[in-house]
Amino acid sequence: MLVLTRKEDEVVRLADKGSGQVIWVRVLEIRQETIKLGFDAPDNIGILRGELSEDTGQKLPKAVVNGSCPKCKEAWTVEVPRHGFIQWKGGALIQKALPNISLSVREMLISGTCESCFDKMFDCGPEEVSDASA
Ligand SMILES: [Zn+2]
Repeated sequence: MLVLTRKEDEVVRLADKGSGQVIWVRVLEIRQETIKLGFDAPDNIGILRGELSEDTGQKLPKAVVNGSCPKCKEAWTVEVPRHGFIQWKGGALIQKALPNISLSVREMLISGTCESCFDKMFDCGPEEVSDASA
């Protein structure tokens, strides 16, 4: 995934090198946890919120996945886009099938490790040093 940092009123241009079509995305407003984006695109380009189906414009169905953590035995439930979940179960790479889930949710689906145990694995606390001279 390409990551760009933009400020208010800055623009990202998406260009189809083949057809020359261009989509302009402008950051209109940033307020607390929401940003307002403006899109200028050719009529043949559909623009939809990511959680909506391209065909129906309705909310995409979710898959509810339950598991329990192999480390702490805590039960967990996550909801992910059903279509991507089925693709992943069918053999697609999880980062391709479910590109918008967080790393910790990805880990829950793959290994069952819950979010707090996942965080602990990457905790950069002081390492124990064994005394080899004893
Ligand atoms: Zn756990």
